[in-house]
Amino acid sequence: MTKVISIFNQKGGVGKTTTNVNLCAALALKGKKVLSIDIDPQGNSSSGFGLDKNNLELTIYDILIEDTDINKVIHKTDIENLDLIPANIQLAGAEIELTNTKYREKTLRESINLLDDTYDFIIIDCPPSLGLLSLNALTASDTVLIPIQCEYYSLEGVGQLIDTVKLVRKNLNPKLEIEGVLLNMFDGRTNLSIQVVEEVKKYFKDKVYRTVIPRSVRLAEAPSFGQPIMLYDDKSKGSEAYVKLAEELIKNN
Ligand code: ADP
Ligand code: MG
Repeated sequence: MTKVISIFNQKGGVGKTTTNVNLCAALALKGKKVLSIDIDPQGNSSSGFGLDKNNLELTIYDILIEDTDINKVIHKTDIENLDLIPANIQLAGAEIELTNTKYREKTLRESINLLDDTYDFIIIDCPPSLGLLSLNALTASDTVLIPIQCEYYSLEGVGQLIDTVKLVRKNLNPKLEIEGVLLNMFDGRTNLSIQVVEEVKKYFKDKVYRTVIPRSVRLAEAPSFGQPIMLYDDKSKGSEAYVKLAEELIKNN
């Protein structure tokens, strides 16, 4: 059975892309077959895996707008078992173009159904918005993984996020559930980080992962080398944390 997970939070800069790249890599290194789908026009996951996002023949855009066969858009990565459907800035127009499409929220779901390969996990990196791209991701998913940054106002916007999940559940995808809530950029030396953890646990209870991702320069550096953290610095705290998160996620599934 394939599990489809959207990494979703309409706030930018909370660690969606960092989590997508490094969680997918950690799962694949554990022998799971993984497809990562970048559905953010910024294409940061695509470059995070080392692809030259401005030189791609086919991207998620072609699946959503041109009706291209999803199997033709699959790119290999440097990690065995880990495939990628990339995105780039061309996708920015898709939000508007999709508006005129029939079944516009279901396009990605229908394409995923046509995949030739069987994956253990399909993980979708969402854009920081609640538009049609995110709706396509949520409609295609079994669950959502919500990264939250340990900062002031961390829960700001979370109500709206949950409302969106409920709306999708009601109208488009009744089975959609929360996979887990991930605390990112944790700094154990600050009271603020510790307070945020408490607050988020109060709100999401046992949905919060035990694994917390530390603030780490190595995690921020890795994308500029086009590498997941396990390839860039597998001894770093960030790498260890994402391996632990992958273990936790596998255990829950
Ligand atoms: P999003 O996809 O939600 O917009 P990103 O994953 O792109 O967020 O992260 C935003 C910025 O923060 C990026 O520059 C990224 O490298 C950095 N970042 C994310 N997580 C961490 C972390 N745990 N430690 C240090 N920097 C991080
Ligand atoms: Mg991102």
